[in-house]
Amino acid sequence: MREDSFDRRAYLRGAGAAGLFALTGTAGCVGGGGGGGGGGSDGSSNQIVPGTAPGFPPFEMKEGGEIVGFDIDLLSAVVAETDYQLGNWQAFEFDSLIPALTNDKIDAIAAAMTINEERDETIDFSNPYYNADQSVLVRGGGSFSPSALADLSGHPVGAQEGTTGESQVKTLVENGTLQQSNYNSYGNYVLAVEDLTNGNIDAVVLDKPVAQTFVEQRSVEIAFTVETGERYGFGMRTDDDDLTQALNGGLEAVRESGRYEEIRNEWFGSNGG
Ligand code: GLN
Repeated sequence: MREDSFDRRAYLRGAGAAGLFALTGTAGCVGGGGGGGGGGSDGSSNQIVPGTAPGFPPFEMKEGGEIVGFDIDLLSAVVAETDYQLGNWQAFEFDSLIPALTNDKIDAIAAAMTINEERDETIDFSNPYYNADQSVLVRGGGSFSPSALADLSGHPVGAQEGTTGESQVKTLVENGTLQQSNYNSYGNYVLAVEDLTNGNIDAVVLDKPVAQTFVEQRSVEIAFTVETGERYGFGMRTDDDDLTQALNGGLEAVRESGRYEEIRNEWFGSNGG
């Protein structure tokens, strides 16, 4: 299939012009796997407002004031296969994304969010689009090289609030391996990794693909990885079935067209998984 002159950034800017008229839940039928091929020309009636939490490279981060990343490109490509239009990206701390969704501030979450039972009680997830485990990041070439979670005992450890990485650390606190005072929580992982390289904490627990990105950019290394078998999904309100179905159809379409692989290669190179 030929890639035409579709420019995703120009598309986002264009779609943003209709941002004030975010009507949802009025989607027409979207063909199963094939998708609707870009949808209506009138622009505003099926617009959805996407939300994310920058500071989680390469899934979402700010570059020169603009939010970019794998999730941004993937959701844009997926929505382009439906009859919906994508509005302006809204940025929140990760912990605030689900409340923003349920309070109608946004219509879809694209934030490397792990599908789990607790979240599934409040929101609906799309089919999974990426896999991840939890890695433990330490300073590069340092003397602290833990090989299991129990080795974190007695060391200050960081994670981002409301994440599955934080759940790993909280479990250590609950089972007495780690003192509560040794758990440092952050609004985003960029701040946690800064505290690690500054020597304020000794380890950060976070999703492996993001840990690998920090390894490429900073003086940090992965000490070990816990195989949690997490899978990311887009998050939607539970009453937005039409949207959830449409995004699942769009996901299938971008996989079949090879677009998914292109976007993955663009942001992960050969590390993609
Ligand atoms: N995948 C992890 C979670 O869902 C982290 C997501 C994130 O920090 N953006 O909790």
